[in-house]
Amino acid sequence: MFRFCNRMKSYITFLFTCFLFLNFIFGTTKLQAQEQPVFTHQDTLRGSITPERAWWDLTHYHLNIRVNPADSTIRGLNTVQYRVLKPNQVLQIDLQAPMRLEKVVQNGKTLAVKKDGYAYFIQLQEKQKAGSLQKLDVYYSGRPQVSKNPPWTGGLTWKKDANGLPFVATSCQGDGASLWWPCKDHMYDEPDSMQISVTVPQNLTNVSNGRLRRVSQNNDGTKTFHWAVTNPINNYGVNVNIADYVNFSEKYAGEKGPLDLNYYVLRSNLEKAKKQFKEVPRMLKALEHWFGPYPFYEDSYKLVEVPYLGMEHQSSVTYGNKYQNGYLGRDVSGTGWGLKFDFIIVHESGHEWFANNITYKDVADMWIHESFTAYSESLFLDYHFGKKAASEYVIGKRKTIKNDQPIIGYYNVNNSGSGDMYNKGANMLHTLRQLFKDDEKWRQVLRGLNKEFYHQTVTTAQIENYLSQQIGRDLKPFFDQYLRDVRIPNLEYRFANNNLQYRWTNVVSGFNMPVRVFLNEKEQWLEPTTAWQELKGITPKTKIASDNNFYITQNK
Ligand SMILES: [Zn+2]
Repeated sequence: MFRFCNRMKSYITFLFTCFLFLNFIFGTTKLQAQEQPVFTHQDTLRGSITPERAWWDLTHYHLNIRVNPADSTIRGLNTVQYRVLKPNQVLQIDLQAPMRLEKVVQNGKTLAVKKDGYAYFIQLQEKQKAGSLQKLDVYYSGRPQVSKNPPWTGGLTWKKDANGLPFVATSCQGDGASLWWPCKDHMYDEPDSMQISVTVPQNLTNVSNGRLRRVSQNNDGTKTFHWAVTNPINNYGVNVNIADYVNFSEKYAGEKGPLDLNYYVLRSNLEKAKKQFKEVPRMLKALEHWFGPYPFYEDSYKLVEVPYLGMEHQSSVTYGNKYQNGYLGRDVSGTGWGLKFDFIIVHESGHEWFANNITYKDVADMWIHESFTAYSESLFLDYHFGKKAASEYVIGKRKTIKNDQPIIGYYNVNNSGSGDMYNKGANMLHTLRQLFKDDEKWRQVLRGLNKEFYHQTVTTAQIENYLSQQIGRDLKPFFDQYLRDVRIPNLEYRFANNNLQYRWTNVVSGFNMPVRVFLNEKEQWLEPTTAWQELKGITPKTKIASDNNFYITQNK
């Protein structure tokens, strides 16, 4: 395994070197070669579809654990069900230290396991026939990593509420679900359904994904909460939240019928929550309009208070925005529009469509989650406050763009790209909306994405191709520019006699985005390329302004 991966790594390095060389010769793009991080063997084991992962397809997980706030430990097992695609006798399961994998059992037999860092290679005894369904019990225990800065660094958060009772939550995007439970910790494969059974002290409630099927009383002063998810779910979407929760609920008349909305909050915050969570039906109104039906009616929608800012856990969105509008009370756009809504309710719920419904296969393509979701904030405003508000908001967020490195990260090594995937990504989509020249068509395209890739894991190429087809032009240079380069396209113009000449500079080769400009305030579409084009009969006195809805610069 080690040798294989090293060879793979040198092959990738070789390809990358060739790419850089060609890039240098032809000078087509300005990707950040010098900043390529160093990746390890562990990164490859975590971030690629290894041979020990590829041969089996996840069908179901049953995570059955006991969480003990008194000593910050978790122990239990995950039953992994899978279908054999291609017979193989070695299967990879991931679990990160300090959690310990205790034993793995198949059909009553304890199996030999070879450990390679955080990857466990399980030596199967039973013949794995193609097409057969198999089951594996993975027992584990330990005191999981505590998150230093949730949700940006993964791990457990062990806090106390105002009454001194435990207030516990998991968050693990990026670092991986294997921080706290053993699983196939790669995003390409999701189980079709999942059960989550969590045993907690008698006086506490556990909230996980999906619907609560039952609560069983144990004779040792604990209770077990049995949750069931009936849809495919991604690894980092799975969560455990434990507190002295109180619950209230309502039904929402949605596009697909009645949707159950369930809210779990700390006892002392009930009144505040009842007021602030009125945002949820408003959010659903706007986002179902733009994206289509909420993707998990069967599993209901829940909003769950946690001791950190928030996360898009599937069908149990977590909330820690302190019951106020904006992002912890701030307007990220600086336009005033950001205070018209609860950022965390809108943003994290937006991920139900882009992250949980449509999920990246490789975290390098994380823009698929964050760009569309950052843009969903603007669509929320569009629905409730109009198009002008929406534009001002997304344009206002440009001040946060760094253009430090490309939005797309490195593939197969669990690496995500620039934080620009949020607000630059949203501005890229806002620019794309202009190119569609038809807001209703644009809405149908956003809804179409959620239909076409319903409950799937996808690549950037799939999204790019779909959008190219819908707009009827090749958007490759457009996406190369905004996702794979850091330069802002510049519309350069000059006058020659009574002609306006214009072209794109600061762009990738082949960049040919049409652009809307105003000539003495009269709208005019231009089709610039990297070569000078000409529009006749425009005097040098003409005032030229490109449409600010495009994320570009312009100069003479
Ligand atoms: Zn997000």
